Amino acid sequence: MCTENEKLSLIISREDVFSSRYFDYQKSDKYIYYNKHNEQIEVGVYTHYLSATSTDIAIDLSTMIGCPMKCLFCQSASVNYERNLSSDEIAVIAKRIIKNHIHKNTKQITCSLQGIGEPSLIPETVIDLYQQLINYDKRVKYSISTIGASIDGLNKIINSGIKIDNLQITKCGTTNIVEKELTPNGISIAKLSELIKEIIKRHNIKKAKLNYILIKGKTDSKEDLQNLIAIFKNRGIAIKISYLNETECSTKYGLLPTSYNEAILFSSELQENGIDSYVFGSFKNIAISCGQLLTKK
Ligand code: SF4
Repeated sequence: MCTENEKLSLIISREDVFSSRYFDYQKSDKYIYYNKHNEQIEVGVYTHYLSATSTDIAIDLSTMIGCPMKCLFCQSASVNYERNLSSDEIAVIAKRIIKNHIHKNTKQITCSLQGIGEPSLIPETVIDLYQQLINYDKRVKYSISTIGASIDGLNKIINSGIKIDNLQITKCGTTNIVEKELTPNGISIAKLSELIKEIIKRHNIKKAKLNYILIKGKTDSKEDLQNLIAIFKNRGIAIKISYLNETECSTKYGLLPTSYNEAILFSSELQENGIDSYVFGSFKNIAISCGQLLTKK
């Protein structure tokens, strides 16, 4: 229940064609939640359709106010980091969104820690939030998106036994220089290799995938392809090739997306080498990625 001072404001509502293996059309509703201290928390609600039939609702929840990780391609890095949210605070927002958006025909509600913040830094919050959300509605599935900033934190989450529907690890480049430049706090390619070996043994992780952000001249080299093949070949973990969503941050640092055809070629080379891969994105700048709302207002 929201107090008088709390409010959820719808800022963007739009519909777009998407390239994804799970849906081809998305309705996006982006909100800002004002808490009782008048802090602003971004939350996205995406209704997915495949061949005009609704498949699921995905709620992208923020875990922090601002993000301290400073990934160069991400607009959230330019939102001042103030603090981590508690599981109770995140749950209040998620429950309110669920109440507003679902109906009796909704088959699945994916609550995804994919908004502003890095879940591996707050393992206790992630574990407690899972219990609160699955107890609230049986249709809830829980997903986590991480840059792997804390391996200990990630291991704590995985070892807790919570059921993770989708564990997404975001990576931007595979060579030391590019990794450090683009995701200074993200998991290194060497540590990713070790983590993948652990993840595939875990029965509480239904799906895991690498979210690989393709940036022209930075992360799309032959060396990157070879490095990805060396780690992911025959591991049963998909690589989602994400088209760079241009933001004020990415533009400031001169980061450019590849063309659609280049993304398809990169993904095809992975497929030819025994890796499940697909291309994801809207292929036009729709300004709905995390952080874009707060910095546009
Ligand atoms: S990609 Fe994630 S961890 Fe990196 S700045 Fe954005 S929100 Fe933070």
